[in-house]
Amino acid sequence: MIAGVDIGGTKVALGLIDSNGAVVTRVDIPIEVDRGPANARDRMLKVMRQLNHEIDGGFRGIGIGCTGPIDAITGEMGDVNTLPGWQGWNPMRELADEFKVTVALENDADAAALGEARWGAGKGKRSMVGLTVGTGIGAGIIFEGKVYRGAGNAHPEIGHHIMEPDGPLCTCGATGCWEALAAGPSIEQWYAEQNPEGGVRTCKEICALARAGDAAAQRAVDRLATYLGIGLSNVIHMLMPEVIALSGSVMQSADLLLDPIRAIVRNNCRVVPSENCLITLSSLGANAGLIGAAQVWHTRFDSEHKEKL
Ligand SMILES: [Zn+2]
Repeated sequence: MIAGVDIGGTKVALGLIDSNGAVVTRVDIPIEVDRGPANARDRMLKVMRQLNHEIDGGFRGIGIGCTGPIDAITGEMGDVNTLPGWQGWNPMRELADEFKVTVALENDADAAALGEARWGAGKGKRSMVGLTVGTGIGAGIIFEGKVYRGAGNAHPEIGHHIMEPDGPLCTCGATGCWEALAAGPSIEQWYAEQNPEGGVRTCKEICALARAGDAAAQRAVDRLATYLGIGLSNVIHMLMPEVIALSGSVMQSADLLLDPIRAIVRNNCRVVPSENCLITLSSLGANAGLIGAAQVWHTRFDSEHKEKL
């Protein structure tokens, strides 16, 4: 049994994942930022000791998916704006010392993509991009079951490829990034600006209004689908993966988005066989992060799937 640890911006999900990629136990620990990082970490360790005690022989290993920036090789966390005080903490080292087993860590987008490639929408395929569209746009590129790493083991940031040089300011400081045009907050802001009397609405609410026939909401959804479709066309032109698996809160409205996205991709991608790239939804659902965390361990340490670093 592998222990999965999914460290997000607001909570830590812990779980036990069996050798078939099924989540046997799951415990969510909300991170109360006001009480400091040690508080959340102590609660996390307490639950993990309990889980380790409950299973025969204890954990076989521990896999961690962690919100970035992180160093996937040393295990050290960088500066995450929702987690003040966590920078410099090394969950990989701490859990290895505590439980005396091998521990592996990845950026959470890479972890979820690894799980999806092994157990979900990318099963049996050579190349897959797992794309999460929520408060930002994050991606994991998987080739032959392994995470693609850039120079110095860097995690590429597909969400920050620039589409509109004069576009809105992005959280990264550049303007017109894909994330600044097609993630949840951007559609919310655009709708509020275009439709001041409609007030501030969440992406989910805007999609519901669009389904009910609200013209301003429909324009916002069309714009969202257009930017998602253009961004995916760029991804397909550059990587031509066999599968793109979409997840994240924005994709909960896939009924409004998938068909237009596919039509835009078909129209844009004329020099690559885009029909060979399946654009689909992630199939692991709410447990994708935990299943992915377990797969991080398998990829690093399990002899059958071992990654050379
Ligand atoms: Zn950016």
